[in-house]
Amino acid sequence: MKPQRVAVVVGVGVLGASVGWNLSRSGVDVVLVDAGRPGEGVTNWSFSWANASNKTASKSYFDLNVAGMEAHRELARTIGPDSWWYPDGHLRWAADPAAERRLLQTAELLTSWNYAVEVSTGAEVRRRLEPALTLPDDIPVLFYPDEAWVHGRHLVSRLVSEAVAAGAEHRFGTTVRDISTGADGSVRSVALSDGSRLAADIVVNAAGPDAADVAGLVARHLPMRREPGVVTRIGCAQVPVRRAMHAPHVEIRPDGNSSVVLHSREIDALIDTGEEPSELARLLHELARQVVPDLGNGHITQTRVANRPIPADGFPSVGAWSSVPGYYEAVSHSGITLGPVIGRLLASEILSGERDRLLTDFHPERFAA
Ligand SMILES: Cc1cc2nc3c(=O)[nH]c(=O)nc-3n(C[C@H](O)[C@H](O)[C@H](O)COP(=O)(O)OP(=O)(O)OC[C@H]3O[C@@H](n4cnc5c(N)ncnc54)[C@H](O)[C@@H]3O)c2cc1C
Repeated sequence: MKPQRVAVVVGVGVLGASVGWNLSRSGVDVVLVDAGRPGEGVTNWSFSWANASNKTASKSYFDLNVAGMEAHRELARTIGPDSWWYPDGHLRWAADPAAERRLLQTAELLTSWNYAVEVSTGAEVRRRLEPALTLPDDIPVLFYPDEAWVHGRHLVSRLVSEAVAAGAEHRFGTTVRDISTGADGSVRSVALSDGSRLAADIVVNAAGPDAADVAGLVARHLPMRREPGVVTRIGCAQVPVRRAMHAPHVEIRPDGNSSVVLHSREIDALIDTGEEPSELARLLHELARQVVPDLGNGHITQTRVANRPIPADGFPSVGAWSSVPGYYEAVSHSGITLGPVIGRLLASEILSGERDRLLTDFHPERFAA
């Protein structure tokens, strides 16, 4: 009988939890390791919008994100949608004619790729979807009915519970410090900061923004971009919006029954000027209350600057690295959208050795040179 393979998943954000859940339900012995608590890395500090409308940089990346949205729907059918899956669509509009033209051009491209988008007006949106918004009556507003937002921490917690029920072990609050290889160069074991060592045939690097450090443990150079973002949570007695939206200068989404999440690329641009996070949060709150005046009654509860986990060319790095058999990567921005599909495709690659065509452009080997 072939000995059972052991997979150590390094990092339990949305990507590690998705890979670990898929492997454990396929009968692999899985150990989930996280330096902190599962789901409390960048997965908890994300705008968390599941979409492909913002992923038109290449057709293969768009297709992967469309598959990501479908994988979420499938996951919601399999484990249930409770407390993590909010498929209420997404709204987007612009403040000036040039930006408006660009949005409408993107909508045309997306329509030609069979992606659902409806063009509405400010007045219609207020009447049908979001009564609390202030936006001009006659401006065009794009509505993407198939998009969603995801409660990342809750999703991770569900996947971890399901993986544990299928037999996975976990080590939380301990860091992977070393990955040892055997005489043939393949993965053998993983050393943890608590002094213990885990035997491993498979190591999945899902360490998010720290993925380059974990890659370094097998002498692999994984080039990553530095692209921090700031997210703030506003506590409110009643959440005045029902879905995620891109207003001209700020992104707004619900975050459960008593909280709203805010993000803005314009405010991200101030991070490196040395502005305090509390000031960035105040600016976000100010921008958001211009769109949703009721948010003026809310108060800032949490703010965090987090690094996006982005390989240097901007695209995911998913799959095996042939120089170290048994070592795999699951590293990506847009990880909220892509977590379930990357989890499924990478687990299938690990189990079968076959690579899905959706991953063709996102091989870790492209950084080998
Ligand atoms: C401001 C902002 C907005 C975003 N908006 C969106 C969006 O709207 N839609 C979208 O799809 N994506 C978005 N993203 C990206 C998305 O949040 C990430 O791609 C995704 O959360 C990455 O998940 P992860 O599991 O790779 O990383 P993480 O959630 O960070 O998990 C990695 C885990 O690895 C652990 N770890 C690290 N090193 C070690 C080690 N040596 N040993 C053990 N554990 C280790 C950490 O403790 C952490 O828990 C956004 C990101 C940011 C910052």
